[in-house]
Amino acid sequence: MQPLVAPPNPNVCLEAWQGDLTTLGVDAIVNAANNSLLGGGGVDGAIHRAAGPELLAFNRKLNGCATGAAKLTPGFDLKAPLIIHTVGPVWQGGQHNEAALLESCYREVIKIAAHEALSSIAFPAISCGVYGYPPEQAVEIAVKTVRAMLPVCPHLQRVVFCCFSDDMLALYQQKL
Ligand code: ADP
Repeated sequence: MQPLVAPPNPNVCLEAWQGDLTTLGVDAIVNAANNSLLGGGGVDGAIHRAAGPELLAFNRKLNGCATGAAKLTPGFDLKAPLIIHTVGPVWQGGQHNEAALLESCYREVIKIAAHEALSSIAFPAISCGVYGYPPEQAVEIAVKTVRAMLPVCPHLQRVVFCCFSDDMLALYQQKL
């Protein structure tokens, strides 16, 4: 009989790394975008600057992205050939479906990674900047959801949780 839950892929390395997401040479970097997909501040702005103006032109045709959903684009001038854009929830106190939406971001990104047979991917701390999600809760969801999704993503070998601050790095190291 098949087990109800497949064992996680033992070859996957989940790591916390501190630095600028846009410099990473992974198969795809994840963008913590907004619903317009037309750029913004924080990591989104950094990705649009590093990818170049073709990204904005491409994204104008995508009709935005719902909160908790994800869309794939080329990486253009980035080292990473692909960008998976996802829109995290704005923290509104925790009673507005924020946890389910944040979980959905990680799930939908991994589904795209599985579909594209990616072997490496790097996430920023989605919703932990301007969107105000409490970092500790967000990190818990990030690690738990990615781990739970590994069985659907057999090609994946490396998942990087990219942290900007010392505090965020410490949180990821603790959870991993
Ligand atoms: P959100 O709107 O989803 O909160 P932000 O971009 O404001 O997104 O912040 C998400 C996280 O990304 C924050 O922890 C922020 O410190 C971090 N961040 C900002 N710029 C970069 C970057 N260039 N590389 C990696 N992480 C970044």
